[in-house]
Amino acid sequence: MKIEVIENVLKYNKDQAEKNRKLFKDNNILVLNLLSSPGAGKTSLIIETIKKLKSKKIIGVIEGDISSTYDAEKIKKFTENVIQINTGGTCHLNASMVASAVEKLKVSDLDIIIIENVGNLICPVGFDLGEDYKIVISSVNEGDDKPVKYPPVFIKSDLIILNKVDLMEISDFNQAFFEKKVSELNPQSEIIKLSCKTGTGLDGWFNWVLGKSKI
Ligand code: MG
Ligand code: ZN
Repeated sequence: MKIEVIENVLKYNKDQAEKNRKLFKDNNILVLNLLSSPGAGKTSLIIETIKKLKSKKIIGVIEGDISSTYDAEKIKKFTENVIQINTGGTCHLNASMVASAVEKLKVSDLDIIIIENVGNLICPVGFDLGEDYKIVISSVNEGDDKPVKYPPVFIKSDLIILNKVDLMEISDFNQAFFEKKVSELNPQSEIIKLSCKTGTGLDGWFNWVLGKSKI
């Protein structure tokens, strides 16, 4: 009985995700779903991306949090195209939440939508939002064991970002161990190492985004 309910929820989500995907495709919008634990640097990476690419691409942002408009306020300083979703305690975004947020964005104007999922390495990866790519951000201060402890998000992501590499020198983060574990879980996926604080490696990320853009 319980399993049947969960299957229905996921089926309903999948159907809505396909509707989102069609809308995004019809409008040639690249959609990125950013996944990470709280504090790994999703919002900072979004801000750096808007600052760098705004002369080339119009970027919309959907901010998912259980409460507050704190991150959306930060992003509003750089673009008007931002919508906050408050999940009211739910620990992930689903496709219906994204569909109602998208209604408030001028989709025909946008080239890229970045979705900042709720900070949580566990369940957000299980919900298709209709995005083109899932991207997991792990940061040096979280430790090198995240791929070992939370495999699904590393397996299902299309790109792995290691953020806050400026902290490498003062931490005992084992880069070789992290990369080995990631490549065991997800041999196809690229790892981009960067620091939003110092700017190291950001060009690799900007080029990745531009390379995936549809127009
Ligand atoms: Mg954030
Ligand atoms: Zn959840």
